[in-house]
Amino acid sequence: MSARIHTQSPEQTLEAGAEFAKTLGAGAIVALYGDLGAGKTEFVRGVCSGLGVPPSTVTSPTFAIVNEYPDGRLPVFHFDVYRVKTVGELFELGYEDYFFGDGVCLIEWPSLIEALLPDDTIRINISHLDGGREITFDYQVEQSPA
Ligand code: ADP
Ligand code: MG
Repeated sequence: MSARIHTQSPEQTLEAGAEFAKTLGAGAIVALYGDLGAGKTEFVRGVCSGLGVPPSTVTSPTFAIVNEYPDGRLPVFHFDVYRVKTVGELFELGYEDYFFGDGVCLIEWPSLIEALLPDDTIRINISHLDGGREITFDYQVEQSPA
């Protein structure tokens, strides 16, 4: 399943994240694709806001790999794997506890750890369009029993 929206300002990207957050349940993995400056972190702020975490407290975790926000409706784990060189670094971090726990994982630069992403990962791509942004959501369609 795929959906596509357009945002014309940072505020609208934040709002889109907050709306999307309403659809998230425990254990969701969200991979955020898009170039530097696309709006991935702004969207994550929105998701946090939608889950009850003040967006002003959300900063890019580039140096920490993962930032944790435990106080919302669901715990949020915000990954930025931009500086990760091998997936071994994710194993050292104990990524399984995050990916297979009860929080929501939001991952910037997911293509660097593509092999670690579960099948039910929600993929979101953000790209520049006409001065604003195009945000595309791709969900795995659930297979119905035969
Ligand atoms: P990334 O994390 O993908 O590198 P950021 O989230 O830091 O990008 O966003 C880069 C800039 O783009 C920020 O200043 C953000 O507020 C802005 N931005 C986000 N959405 C839009 C939009 N629809 N129109 C204009 N600017 C936007
Ligand atoms: Mg970012």
